[in-house]
Amino acid sequence: MEKIMKDFFLFLSKNRSLTRAAKKYGLKFGAARFVAGETIDQAVSVIKELNAKGLAVTIDYLGEFVDNEAEANEMADQSIEAIKAIGREKLDSQLSLKMTSMGLDISEQTVLGNMRRILDAAKENNVFVTIDMEDYARCEKTLQIFKKLRSEYDNVGTVIQAYLYRTEQDMIDLSDYEPNLRLVKGAYKESPEVAFPDKKDVDENFKKIIEMHLRNGHYTAVASHDENIIAHTKTFAEQNGIPKSQFEFQMLYGIMPERQIELGKEGYTMRVYVPYGTDWYGYFMRRLAERPANVAFILKGMLKK
Ligand code: FAD
Repeated sequence: MEKIMKDFFLFLSKNRSLTRAAKKYGLKFGAARFVAGETIDQAVSVIKELNAKGLAVTIDYLGEFVDNEAEANEMADQSIEAIKAIGREKLDSQLSLKMTSMGLDISEQTVLGNMRRILDAAKENNVFVTIDMEDYARCEKTLQIFKKLRSEYDNVGTVIQAYLYRTEQDMIDLSDYEPNLRLVKGAYKESPEVAFPDKKDVDENFKKIIEMHLRNGHYTAVASHDENIIAHTKTFAEQNGIPKSQFEFQMLYGIMPERQIELGKEGYTMRVYVPYGTDWYGYFMRRLAERPANVAFILKGMLKK
């Protein structure tokens, strides 16, 4: 049953008509639990609260699968606004963004143009930028874009998904770029031809790539709410003399907030991914897919109204 619900929400996450409708009607159905608001001002207030609790942040202006140049350029402008807000308000925050929001599906020229504008602004404001990883169909193109940009900038990193078979080889290929990587399980619906269908295999591969990246001496963000993965990372780092300054933990806004504070108090850098904006629908559906129990929470909220 859980698998059916997961597939159902991942299917819904890609529905363009629902995405458009959701943009018009504002944060609904409990999405505010996972999304920090629709405006940069709302996001800034949330970040200030998180920073005051000892948590670092990566902010994300929500958007994906953009199919026209004007919208992609507008998305880049919004990310630059976010970078300027980080600088102006002296926030402890990085920036995250998706290549399909910058024009990956339009042309390489569009996406590179937008990314260079963003990375220049980020450099000026001392902000690190992480390129989120999207579905398998965009993985190779995203890595090519990352490699190009990494050769020009030192303030850019990307994400590697443990559920893909190709991941171990990607880590080897990326090593020359000394990348700062966020490692995750993977949030999209992928076929068994390209991704491990069993959670057990994903978890094993996740541990393997965390160890690889830490052992290589590169900065590692372990982005997971899974206690086994967190414990494994801590133990591996302790046993191999890897300092806390070489890695961090990351979690999503609204998920296990007390645990986030605890890890921060234990002396680890704990970074919270804070999304905001009107394009919340696909992001929200993926959060429901990760934990169908969230649906019960949403239904309760709707019945109360
Ligand atoms: P799971 O085994 O899925 O979850 C472990 C436990 O965490 C669950 O039992 C539950 O208690 C809790 N939990 C997990 N998800 C939820 C939820 N939605 N609601 C409530 N509780 C939950 N994926 C990508 O494909 N590309 C990216 O660029 C990307 N960036 C990310 C950035 C950050 C900071 C994080 C934390 C995740 C990101 N992800 C990304 C999502 C990731 O791939 C997983 O889908 C997600 O983190 C769930 O996996 P998990 O490691 O938490 O483990």
